[in-house]
Amino acid sequence: MVTHKGGCHCGRVRFEVVARARITVSECNCSICSKSGYLHLVVPAARFKLLSGGDSLSTYTFNTRTAKHLFCSVCGIKSFYVPRSHPDGFSVNARCLDPGTVQEMSVRQTNGREWEKQYPKGRGEYSD
Ligand SMILES: [Zn+2]
Repeated sequence: MVTHKGGCHCGRVRFEVVARARITVSECNCSICSKSGYLHLVVPAARFKLLSGGDSLSTYTFNTRTAKHLFCSVCGIKSFYVPRSHPDGFSVNARCLDPGTVQEMSVRQTNGREWEKQYPKGRGEYSD
């Protein structure tokens, strides 16, 4: 496990996340992820730390309003958020990680468009 750092485009929002150096991320086909091209690296809350920019975050919600789509109110980038599948954790946008610590990234597909079918238990598992 290594500590990856990342953040939004303007630099106000900065975070660190503990994960493997070789990460598996999810590309989701749901209405919002497909439009933003978000790549999910989902971790338990204990492995995520917001370093700065909390006061710049805005929250967008829709549908069940379980997911908290957090984005930088200055540059608009959603670098992490609280997903409906893991409401007690965080999903980091792998596209927003700083270069240097990710050795390898493999992408798997998530069928968020049919959310109840993808997550029959009403939530997702943590992969590691
Ligand atoms: Zn920003």
